[in-house]
Amino acid sequence: AMTGLIEGIEKFDSPGKGRGLRVTKAFKVGELLFSSPPYSYVLSIEERGNYCEFCFTRRKEGLARCGKCKKAFYCNAKCQKGDWAMHKLECSAMNAFGENWCPSDTTRLVARILAKKKMMKERCVSEKMLLIEELQSHLEDEDNEKRERTDTDIAALHRFYPKHLELPDHKDLLTLYSQVACNGFTIEDDELSHIGTAVYPDVALINHSCLPSVIVTYNGTSAEVRAVQDMKPGDEVLISYIDLLYPTDDRNNRLRECYYFTCDCLECKTKSKDKAKLKIRKQRDPVEPHVVNNMIRYARNTVREFRALKHVKIAPPSELLDMCEQSLEKMGAVFDDFNVYMLHMMYQAMGVCIYMQDADGAIRYGEKILKPYSKLYPPYSLNVSSMYLKMGRIYINMDRNSEGISALKKAMAIMEVAHGKNHPFLKDLRKEIGQK
Ligand SMILES: [Zn+2]
Ligand SMILES: [Zn+2]
Ligand SMILES: [Zn+2]
Repeated sequence: AMTGLIEGIEKFDSPGKGRGLRVTKAFKVGELLFSSPPYSYVLSIEERGNYCEFCFTRRKEGLARCGKCKKAFYCNAKCQKGDWAMHKLECSAMNAFGENWCPSDTTRLVARILAKKKMMKERCVSEKMLLIEELQSHLEDEDNEKRERTDTDIAALHRFYPKHLELPDHKDLLTLYSQVACNGFTIEDDELSHIGTAVYPDVALINHSCLPSVIVTYNGTSAEVRAVQDMKPGDEVLISYIDLLYPTDDRNNRLRECYYFTCDCLECKTKSKDKAKLKIRKQRDPVEPHVVNNMIRYARNTVREFRALKHVKIAPPSELLDMCEQSLEKMGAVFDDFNVYMLHMMYQAMGVCIYMQDADGAIRYGEKILKPYSKLYPPYSLNVSSMYLKMGRIYINMDRNSEGISALKKAMAIMEVAHGKNHPFLKDLRKEIGQK
């Protein structure tokens, strides 16, 4: 085993998994294992103006704007100066291309990684245990569809980033895109809205489990790794790469599709939660297995179709809501309200209601989701805390203060472990509760 450079953590060869991290001392639930600044990061295009591009502080009045492109916003001149080495990759190109400037966030991140590689010759603070070059790539495993998407991204990289970057050859770019696809992190806010994309080489060493021992949260642009189970020396550090709501087959389909492996954790072996996750509605006559299987097939198709429809962005919200309601009615003939496919569509319906500012609709779905969520997700899940936050804030907007505060406090109990008691989100939350 190699000696790590972070106290209490070391890199090791995890049986059957390749590289991994393990602890060399005990950690208690809620304790910080380590934090890591990003090697590179980028604020998502949709969030421009809502956050400082440099430090990801949420928008306050008077966020200063880049005078050249008028598109990038900062807390102050210091943040603007700090971001210039990266922002200059885009500033003049955005002016030159105007409306036609449209690289994906992945391409924007790749451009920043290339610029940083050129700038930084020595090991970076985010590379204490793993260098950016050493990130796992799965180039050989990618299918044609994925390859074509990367080729499109690379074309955009050549088109929109010509001046300051000396781009490596096509093969090296394909490798870099594959590394970013398997090792990139999505920076999310307290309600799990996507803020940006980043790479943290040291954090990328952490392997997956459906029974994770740690959780990653973000403080500004830094990643923080905290224990959600008590850990003893020698325990592997394990995070979940995926949404843990779904049954074993779905989780592993997702892992194979995105990360090219199958999980062999205890939950994947015992499938102990699958029955509760696929709960059937109580009926006088037992439901035939083929009826259940057909409904599962229908549910998976609906999840896929809904995602595609939402992605096109031209579908009117009422159409999305209709699709949720119709599928819930159809599935409800066989599935219980605790069934994860029902929950998936209720969650989507709640999102559409929030978008349409239909508080009553959002609350109606949310109230059905909360209890099964708390039961089906592991303890200290961000999916659960973000649901409590959304609900609490909607209640308070409706002047249902006691229900609101109660929900916010439930979110807080989870976040104190996942984010740590001093995280800015918790300071804001205490203010929110105190004001009521
Ligand atoms: Zn800032
Ligand atoms: Zn600019
Ligand atoms: Zn698993």
